[in-house]
Amino acid sequence: MKRIGVLTSGGDNPGLNPCIRAVVRSALHLGLEVMGIRRGYAGLLDGEIDEMDTRSVGGIIGRGGTILGTARCPEFYEPKGRREALRSLNRFGIDGLVVIGGNGSLTGALELWRMGFPVIGIPGTIDNDVNGTDISIGVDTALNTILDAIDKIKDTASSHNRAFLIETMGRNSGYLALASGIAGGAELVLCPEVEVSFEEICQTIEEAYVLGKSHCIIIVAEGWKPGTQVLAQRLLERQDTLGFSVRVTQLGHVQRGGSPSAFDRLLATQMGAAAPRELLKGNAGHMIGLIRNEIALTPLEEAVAFDKQLNPQMVELAEMMRK
Ligand code: ADP
Repeated sequence: MKRIGVLTSGGDNPGLNPCIRAVVRSALHLGLEVMGIRRGYAGLLDGEIDEMDTRSVGGIIGRGGTILGTARCPEFYEPKGRREALRSLNRFGIDGLVVIGGNGSLTGALELWRMGFPVIGIPGTIDNDVNGTDISIGVDTALNTILDAIDKIKDTASSHNRAFLIETMGRNSGYLALASGIAGGAELVLCPEVEVSFEEICQTIEEAYVLGKSHCIIIVAEGWKPGTQVLAQRLLERQDTLGFSVRVTQLGHVQRGGSPSAFDRLLATQMGAAAPRELLKGNAGHMIGLIRNEIALTPLEEAVAFDKQLNPQMVELAEMMRK
């Protein structure tokens, strides 16, 4: 193997740049050439590919976003699109590929691997929904952004004696909501993985009021059904008995930005540096993860195979801490 490619794909997160930097610098250290592929699989199909050197990743360790850009690429779902991608990799003389992205991007990487191309995956997603790693790149920074927002909303909620529904991202995963709910001292967390009835939600708000709390913070994962706006509407209809009046804040894309935290920079650097090394060792077809604080490999097939479950101890903790 002489020349590898690196791309960032799918949803962006604050931690991709330190990861790209680590891939490039460790590859150069190992005597490999590195090609940067822009806009994920879309740029691979379109041949948006340039050589990277150590200076091309200078000054980015503290920058959010991704210098390579990212995209969603519908063509890549089809075998025809993936064959085109293989032709592009051959045309640019790339003989190994590092894919940094979430569940979907890693599934795409698995498909390329199944077609015989050496690929290695790195989990980069704020959703933390990839198996084979305790945590993905970007989660910690996103959590810190959410906590900053929760703290600020608490200030205004307390001043006006309000209940707030704060919606976090996470796609179908409740991890961001649960972790930020625990760390932010929320009264309730609503995740897709845990069933909570409307009556229980009302009860929680009423209890917080009766307990003399100055606010009631409810974190709602974006994947929770029937959704934040529907819940807000139903609570509005019950306003008279709740005690608190209800407001909604959807945090939105602010969660994807910002300078990566110390944890994310370290995680991204460790994972990124491992990728070229593992490709050279013949470990293509795997994803690099962090398991019990050690870099570990999991077959891509397993990493994307099933929905990652929430840790039941964390669910219990959120419940225990809320009163
Ligand atoms: P994320 O990587 O953040 O989960 P997506 O699910 O949107 O984001 O996936 C990013 C891209 O990965 C898609 O636009 C597509 O090009 C590719 N991809 C996703 N799922 C598959 C799949 N099942 N087969 C092939 N390619 C896929």
